[in-house]
Amino acid sequence: MKPKTDVDISLVVPCFNEEATLSLFYRETAGVMNGEKTFTSEFIFVDDGSGDATADVLKELALNNDNVHYIILSRNFGKEAAMLAGLQKAGGRYAVTLDADLQDPPALIPAMLQAVSSGEFDCAGTRRVTRRGEPAIRSFFARCFYRIMAKFTDMEVVDGARDFRLMSRRYLDAVLSLNERNRFSKGIFPWIGFKTKWFEYENIPRAAGETKWSFGKLFIYSLDGIFAFSSRPLAVASVLGVLFFLSSLLFISIIIFRKILLGDPVDGWASTACIILFCSGIQLFTVGVLGQYLAKTYTEVKQRPHYIVKEEK
Ligand code: UDP
Ligand code: MG
Repeated sequence: MKPKTDVDISLVVPCFNEEATLSLFYRETAGVMNGEKTFTSEFIFVDDGSGDATADVLKELALNNDNVHYIILSRNFGKEAAMLAGLQKAGGRYAVTLDADLQDPPALIPAMLQAVSSGEFDCAGTRRVTRRGEPAIRSFFARCFYRIMAKFTDMEVVDGARDFRLMSRRYLDAVLSLNERNRFSKGIFPWIGFKTKWFEYENIPRAAGETKWSFGKLFIYSLDGIFAFSSRPLAVASVLGVLFFLSSLLFISIIIFRKILLGDPVDGWASTACIILFCSGIQLFTVGVLGQYLAKTYTEVKQRPHYIVKEEK
């Protein structure tokens, strides 16, 4: 597909309650982009239903700078939807997605741009090699997530990969061609393929403000990722069913055997109660897995838009 504008690089920045970081972010990132003499750039900020003055800060920035654009969403739709809104508006030959809190160092952009504009790679991705400054328990669960993801899907979801990426036009068009409602970028990027060059950096604490991700939100997000990219949980549910059926056959034979040979009356209501509880637990679990896919299918079938725009420039 042809670029929609004559800009070289579109920077897409999702913002949710980022009034404290935006000016700093813009100053720093625009500084880096201005250093790129041969490439023109535009900023596309997406206000994801912030409750603070983010929208006002964005309007002010856009008023003073021609290459700043914004999309204000009607409510908080989540980072995935905000990124999608920005990427759909991006007209550049290259697109970059990065966070507004300067945790994604804009100083890496020139090297990323070089890797992709050389034509050898279609995407430059970044990954954090350390998780310094992050609670140990969160790092532990994050590692578990990457391991489960690798087992459950056949894709390689890179440990510590950030959403900070630079993409070629054809890579971006491929990303946009995936129109699913349950968007999970960490899975979409490896799914579409192409060659990605990885850049590594140490974890950088937020410039200001607070993280928007609670532990619970991250947990749900990782489950969404697994359900969106793998049907293996369904296979696990079926295997569990077969295992339980086989073990019940075994137990039935043991009971018959004891009754006939030893004349042992069947006793022990406590163990029976335990078995019933255990089996119904497994049943509820597998029904839950099934329900997850049903719920996902339901949201896909409804074909609602990913986000609603309130205002844009
Ligand atoms: N964000 C968003 N919508 C949300 C949550 C976050 O647009 O519902 C944006 C946020 O403003 C930031 C980026 O996504 O630019 C990453 O969020 P955050 O820094 O809170 O996540 P963390 O870096 O802690 O993983
Ligand atoms: Mg952050």
